[in-house]
Amino acid sequence: MIEMIPLFRLFSVMDHYRRYFSSNIDQNINANRALNHSTIQFGSAISTISEMSRYTVLVATIVLCALKKISLGDVVLYQSLFSFSLDGLGRIMNILPNLEMGLEAMNSIYSVLGLEDTGETKITSHLTDGELKFEGVHFTYPGSESKALSGVDCRIRSGEHVVIIGKNGSGKSTLARLLLGFFAPDRGRITINGVLSTDAGSEAIATKIAYVSQRSIIFRDSLLENIRLRDEQISREQALKAAEQCNLARLISRLSLGLDEPISPLSLSGGETQCVAIARALARPLKTLLLDEITSNLDLISKKMVFNTLRNLHGSCTIVTITHDMELLTLADRVLVMDEGKLHESNLNSVVSG
Ligand code: ADP
Ligand code: MG
Repeated sequence: MIEMIPLFRLFSVMDHYRRYFSSNIDQNINANRALNHSTIQFGSAISTISEMSRYTVLVATIVLCALKKISLGDVVLYQSLFSFSLDGLGRIMNILPNLEMGLEAMNSIYSVLGLEDTGETKITSHLTDGELKFEGVHFTYPGSESKALSGVDCRIRSGEHVVIIGKNGSGKSTLARLLLGFFAPDRGRITINGVLSTDAGSEAIATKIAYVSQRSIIFRDSLLENIRLRDEQISREQALKAAEQCNLARLISRLSLGLDEPISPLSLSGGETQCVAIARALARPLKTLLLDEITSNLDLISKKMVFNTLRNLHGSCTIVTITHDMELLTLADRVLVMDEGKLHESNLNSVVSG
């Protein structure tokens, strides 16, 4: 769940989920406090009662022995039998608070998993077009000894499709994270439409740049709401148009309720999931798409679906695609290579298209 927080933030649904989770976490903390209190009270009461009854039986059997009603052997026997039964009963009683704690833990989990949408949030994303600029950007992750980015300079023009390639660990995703404002550069500056990323903040940046990653989120909701994310400013027609741009027309015609069909993470293929994630971005008035290895887990058909979507979008928005997929290079206006935290221009695209 925690991993998903930056992703929620990207569609400005952070406030919504922050309220969602904090009210539930508060409830769970209060419930746990009450439970701990009652467990302590219950435990003390049980030990007091058992010790008192142990002494009562001991005194009673000694008195009976003194009155010659029972023998000394009987006193030991009754005492042992009583202790034995009391221990058994004590063990059973001790299970009850644990059982209650288990049930409370389950309630805590279900209260988070089964959250109903309050419909309170206005998810607004006013995306505008513009250029992205990195100037002398250096970055080292907190606690890390080596630089993830060491002097990135790059200007991506509005409407361009730039593909970034590079070895694993070369810094491609770090570049995306800095662009999205998850981290501030140690040195240098990143500007989005002329605004410094550090001034804008990640939630505001999310209204300018739509990010799709390898792991897209599908909510248990209708296909329509998975695209609109309950943003009432996005009409049904806009959502449908975005879905069609993303090759989802066939999926919609297959679903008995069409756009209103409830979907879940398990009901879509990998390609369909990525297309819904792109449609979610396109339904907003966006001009910048940032895609980080979105095809790496996809089968051929799904890849084709995403490929066609990106090809159809060419020129209509700025696209930054981070990929290992050679086919996607053919869509690029420009290919940049990330190598050990530095970004270089490449003539790979002319090789591929030539
Ligand atoms: P790429 O996306 O090109 O595979 P990344 O940008 O994810 O590479 O990583 C660049 C470098 O930063 C790598 O050396 C990686 O180990 C390191 N790195 C990535 N994420 C973190 C993190 N959260 N904390 C510390 N180091 C990280
Ligand atoms: Mg990466």
